[in-house]
Amino acid sequence: MDGRFVLWNKAQIHVLTHALHYGGSVYEGMRTYPVVVTAASGAKKKKEVAGIYRLDDHIQRFVNSQKAIAMKPPYSKTELKKVCVELLKKNKIVDGYIRPIAFYGYDRLGIFWGGVPVKVAIAAFPWGAYLPNEMKLKISPFQRLSSKAVKIEAKVGSYYVNSNFATEHAKNVSPQADEALLLDDNGYIAEPACANIFFVRGKTLYTPKRGAILPGFTRDSIIELAGYFGLKVIEKRIKPTEISKFDECFTTGTATEVMSVVKINGKKIGNGKMGDVTTVLKDGYSDLVHGRLPKFKKWVTLVQ
Ligand code: PMP
Repeated sequence: MDGRFVLWNKAQIHVLTHALHYGGSVYEGMRTYPVVVTAASGAKKKKEVAGIYRLDDHIQRFVNSQKAIAMKPPYSKTELKKVCVELLKKNKIVDGYIRPIAFYGYDRLGIFWGGVPVKVAIAAFPWGAYLPNEMKLKISPFQRLSSKAVKIEAKVGSYYVNSNFATEHAKNVSPQADEALLLDDNGYIAEPACANIFFVRGKTLYTPKRGAILPGFTRDSIIELAGYFGLKVIEKRIKPTEISKFDECFTTGTATEVMSVVKINGKKIGNGKMGDVTTVLKDGYSDLVHGRLPKFKKWVTLVQ
């Protein structure tokens, strides 16, 4: 935190922190997975080490997000990446989550963030996530933030108020859903509250094109992986009325990985079960992040 390693309970801030009041924070969520390394990959003997998934990309987006909210990034990408690795080593975390955050700190009250000091922290904790495999979505009455209102490709903390309004509605509405699906300002499908979305018809994947979404690294990984498995991917605008034409649907995100969507607005997608293409990609993604697919090893930073 701000250039020093501090104990979990000591990582504290002032109640008048600017970002707490006006939302000027940006963050990342990264996963680290156990990766088996063998003599062939340079290790003396076979062992399991932490592999940070797409560290370079997350740190690049973290710095881009800082610039998007007018911050002068206080730390270089090299410094930030070094800290992530050190943090895992110090805490002996192999299967876990890394959360870098940059925010406007304690200075004065007044909404303009110009001149307010920038604080940076990175937290890490063990996380062998268990998540359900199948989920139900509800199209939200809350519109996804417009790219005319915010810089949509930055990962800004306050944007998640939009995600929370939508999620709260989805969880309380009848029939209840696990997650909200937000439309963009033209009524096309944008994304769930904290993930991207894919639809499948035959051997082709369809996913909303950029413009009203956070283009996630899991989305990008799935696009690459689909190519690897000989599947076609089309990025386009998708209307909610097209949903009934698809055989399968799934969401992608760092935390939730690949999750099958079996119902939208109470209507079954395909036969209402996780489909074959989703299963192939879900298993393939698991192999990929655990460093088991040689073609994608470039995305896994080993902590040794
Ligand atoms: N959209 C939103 C709004 C998100 O919060 C996330 C999670 N970061 C994603 C998409 C998926 O991004 P990624 O695959 O990089 O985690």
